[in-house]
Amino acid sequence: MDTVSARLDIEMFVDCPECEHMIDLLSERDTDEYDHNEEGYLLRQMFPSNGSHDDFECKKVTCSQCKCTFNVKGLEW
Ligand SMILES: [Zn+2]
Repeated sequence: MDTVSARLDIEMFVDCPECEHMIDLLSERDTDEYDHNEEGYLLRQMFPSNGSHDDFECKKVTCSQCKCTFNVKGLEW
């Protein structure tokens, strides 16, 4: 019997409030080349100690498409 390793592929989507472009917060291509997950900032918030995702946040996201900047608060699973 073979054993293989698993691979996790995570995407975290928001819609740009200006142009409605779909942005993956984990993709620098979508966030004007800025790494919002530096030191696991976003992924750590996926497993909050109090179990609530209401406090999930990501500040000053810049849309690669229209260059507007906005904040993200809350995370739906
Ligand atoms: Zn936009």
